[in-house]
Formats: sequence, C-alpha cells, structure tokens
Amino acid sequence: MPGEPQDDCLFCKIVEGHVPATIVRETPTTVAFRDINPQAPTHVLVIPKAHYANAAVLAAADPALAADLLREAQEVADEDKLESYRVVFNTGTGAGQTVFHVHAHILGGRGLQWPPG
Ligand code: 5GP
Ligand code: ZN
Repeated sequence: MPGEPQDDCLFCKIVEGHVPATIVRETPTTVAFRDINPQAPTHVLVIPKAHYANAAVLAAADPALAADLLREAQEVADEDKLESYRVVFNTGTGAGQTVFHVHAHILGGRGLQWPPG
C-alpha cells in the first residue's frame, strides 16, 4: 500500500523510533531531524511519516502531505533563525539520492553557491 512503512527503510525506522536521530521538530504528519553528515551549519531533513520513495511520488499520492514538508521547511529555518536557506529533493541515484524515503534537505547558515554541483 502506498504510504505504508517499509521494513528495509532507514527513515521509516527513524519515524518509528527504532533508529536514533536528533529530532528538531515533529508534527502529526512529519518529522525533522539533523543530517548525520551535515553539509552546512543547518542541515536538517524533513520527511513525511508515511513512506513515499521520492518527491514526485509523494506529490502525486498526497499533495497536502507534500505541502506539509514545505511548511515544515520554513519552520525549521525559523527555528535556526535562517533568513535564506535552500530546499533540496535529490530524486534518483544520478542526483545523489541514497535513501528512498522522500526527504527535503534544508541547508543554511553559510553562503550557498548557485548553481549547485
Ligand atoms: P540523499 O543522499 O538520499 O539525498 O540524502 C540522504 C541523507 O541522509 C544524507 O545526507 C545522509 O547524510 C543522511 N543520513 C544517512 N543515514 C542517516 C542516519 O542514520 N541518520 C541521519 N540523521 N541522517 C542520515
Ligand atoms: Zn520509509
């Protein structure tokens, strides 16, 4: 079933509390936690509690939940007092996606170059 927890998914395990994480925010539908390998002073991952493989699958299946992620991105930025920040959804292995449970990277706290690599 779309959205159901996956046994082999690291981020489902974080949602379930079976893998520890530094959680910065939680809502009924989302969890935000610090990336284990931060690429900026603020590097937080915002995920839906429900399992969807990537942003496109999520947006097609549950647009309101996709909007929850974007709303939480701003909340994370506000909590870390970021005036500017970047939201990244790596989609597909060629773009660097390694965990196939959709996550928004929230990056900030340093100058961010454009275009990214
Ligand atoms: P992706 O490469 O799929 O866009 O992003 C996956 C992110 O998850 C990476 O930035 C990686 O550092 C992070 N990550 C991988 N394993 C863990 C973990 O066990 N805990 C946390 N907090 N982050 C993780
Ligand atoms: Zn998952």
